[in-house]
Amino acid sequence: MTTPILEARGITKRFGGVVAVNDASLTVGKGQIVGLIGPNGSGKSTMVNLVAGEMMPNEGTFLFNGADITALPSHRRARLGMARSFQLLRLFHSLSVEDNLLLANHMRMKASLAASIFARGTAREEEERARARARELLAWFDLQDFAERPVSALSIGQQRMVEIARGMMSEPSLFVLDEPAAGLSPPNVDKLIELVRRLRDEFGVSILLVEHVMRVVRDLCDHVVVLDSGVKIAEGAPDAVVKDPVVVEAYIGT
Ligand code: ADP
Ligand code: MG
Repeated sequence: MTTPILEARGITKRFGGVVAVNDASLTVGKGQIVGLIGPNGSGKSTMVNLVAGEMMPNEGTFLFNGADITALPSHRRARLGMARSFQLLRLFHSLSVEDNLLLANHMRMKASLAASIFARGTAREEEERARARARELLAWFDLQDFAERPVSALSIGQQRMVEIARGMMSEPSLFVLDEPAAGLSPPNVDKLIELVRRLRDEFGVSILLVEHVMRVVRDLCDHVVVLDSGVKIAEGAPDAVVKDPVVVEAYIGT
């Protein structure tokens, strides 16, 4: 295990009578790809929302690079180096691909306007820096030919790439991906696997990966955590975990 970048300790989240996440703990080491799997309704998206700071747990603690971030809202966590993608894409469909990336940067700047102006020059300089970064990322994601096209003109596979590229605008050290392979054709799943691996290898981004497609989990993850009804029922190496009778039972039971 490398030094942890993210630690979730004893996290519980209730919605009325439903315990969506029940005393669950997980750790993502620096440079690791950790999978979070489990049947539908097992609490994966809730855990992602809690990690990202979009909702607060009833119990438990989140540490990011060793610091307690439990009380921090999502924009503060983003500024510390966290990015996320959504299970249902949240792109602006009528805007161009490049503008979607720039808008992400803009919203981040608004959240830390003073900091960005004093630390890194004028707003115009920041704007230019963002445009250059957007172009670089689009080239890296092989989307440069689509920069001016509206997102609505792209395939679902390409839109997923745009969503991930947008998250990379803030130069995150941890990227939380919520079911990035959902709805992708097998060739696009292959591309996604390759891309997520390169995100880790070339940018050094640590990744928490919620995924249903087992091939993605097996190909990418260093470590896998399994939730069932909000409870962590297993964790370990992907090959061992998918064969674990407790895990098989949880999946068959649904
Ligand atoms: P998964 O992503 O693993 O499919 P979720 O985290 O979406 O699971 O859901 C876990 C449980 O919490 C489910 O029973 C779901 O109905 C419930 N749940 C999730 N979000 C909410 C919410 N905002 N309000 C009430 N119940 C919720
Ligand atoms: Mg989900």
